[in-house]
Amino acid sequence: MQKNVHIIGAGISGLSAAVQLANANCKVHVHEATQQAGGRCRSYFDAATDLMIDNGNHLLLSGNRHALAYARSIGTEAGLVGPAVAQFPFVDLSTGQRWLLDLGASRLPLWVFDEARRVPDTSLRDYLALMPLIWAPQSKLVGSAIPCEGTLYHRLVQPLLLAALNVDPPEGSAGLAGAVVRETLLAGGQACRPLIAREGLSTVLVEPAIKLLQAKGASIQLGRELVGLGLASDKVDLLKFGGDTVAIAPDDAVVMAVPPRPAASLVPGLKTPTKFRSIVNAHFRFDPPKDMPPLLGVVGGLVEWFSPFRSGCRSPSATETGCWTCHARNSRRRSGATSARRLACRRTSRDGRSCANAEPRSRPRRNKMHCGPAAKPLGKTCFLPATGLIPGCRQRSRGR
Ligand SMILES: Cc1cc2nc3c(=O)[nH]c(=O)nc-3n(C[C@H](O)[C@H](O)[C@H](O)COP(=O)(O)OP(=O)(O)OC[C@H]3O[C@@H](n4cnc5c(N)ncnc54)[C@H](O)[C@@H]3O)c2cc1C
Repeated sequence: MQKNVHIIGAGISGLSAAVQLANANCKVHVHEATQQAGGRCRSYFDAATDLMIDNGNHLLLSGNRHALAYARSIGTEAGLVGPAVAQFPFVDLSTGQRWLLDLGASRLPLWVFDEARRVPDTSLRDYLALMPLIWAPQSKLVGSAIPCEGTLYHRLVQPLLLAALNVDPPEGSAGLAGAVVRETLLAGGQACRPLIAREGLSTVLVEPAIKLLQAKGASIQLGRELVGLGLASDKVDLLKFGGDTVAIAPDDAVVMAVPPRPAASLVPGLKTPTKFRSIVNAHFRFDPPKDMPPLLGVVGGLVEWFSPFRSGCRSPSATETGCWTCHARNSRRRSGATSARRLACRRTSRDGRSCANAEPRSRPRRNKMHCGPAAKPLGKTCFLPATGLIPGCRQRSRGR
């Protein structure tokens, strides 16, 4: 007999569990509180830019085996695209200096031995100083494992760990940072290719999973929030939704794929992170210069990563080249509200949040900020002003 598995939450975690379980011949039931699947990793139509955009630029590195395995399982691995070799253009806004970090395509981090390929003004010794991260325990902080200062830190370690942990690196978990370094930098350029869902997060990572699940007979119910669990002898025997309940038989299983807050309110005694950090994503509709790289690392400014996306246009008047958004991302320690003011952008969504297990005792929250229709096309001259602020956004306050 087929085993029933109830999955709470249709974010990427829930969908990934659902696909694996459906492939293992389980009878899968997905229950999602909102009206759409994808959670914090999805696309939506944005009236301000008249484009389909992603709720924040998502970057995967090719060493992320699990994310790639998920994409493969739903047949869209080819939709995660990136350069054949791991090269990252950077600009330092405080000095105007530009450089190319060339990690190559090897399985070994040979690039650290080549002065022309590594971060300018760094020596092999600087990279060796990162070694304690590799075996650091989960409980240790990055700040007590490696020196969080100097050229290598500011030009590579800080932007990389900030993006991966979403917390100011010195206060992030050295254990997690070590895992990032082991799976990417230490595994050579072949594990560091930046991959982006060029056709949009929903097209590549969400909709194909839904189709596959439906084809396998899974039920996916939207607008169905789990509001309580019935427990008997420490086992779930009832799922309570707004309007109805579902009895859980002894052989059935329940997978909770929800963020810390709902998880804590549903599962008595569950310990979850309580501190969160914000991330700000500003989206601009613009015509990118022809030579604009797919991803630009920025140091010495407010913005940290900059990437152009060809987005799905709804407007019949939009030309192909007009259908671009530029995602400028900031995940510094300051509060989302402060970042928002500095980017002079407005908050449009309540659900653009993310958690990454970044702090040993807590996980950050990410909020999405997003600029309005007044964003002007960014030509070459105003592409990245020296302040790191992006021109053309007008401030609007709405909601929280
Ligand atoms: C702006 C931004 C940028 C990011 N950039 C990157 C990146 O570059 N690289 C990267 O790897 N990751 C990135 N992330 C993180 C990534 O998006 C998340 O880690 C991932 O989407 C989390 O998926 P999840 O399924 O665990 O949680 P969620 O996406 O939060 O999904 C949980 C789902 O559960 C539902 N739910 C909650 N409570 C209930 C309930 N009681 N009943 C039923 N359903 C419920 C929610 O509605 C939601 O759909 C980013 C996130 C954001 C917001």
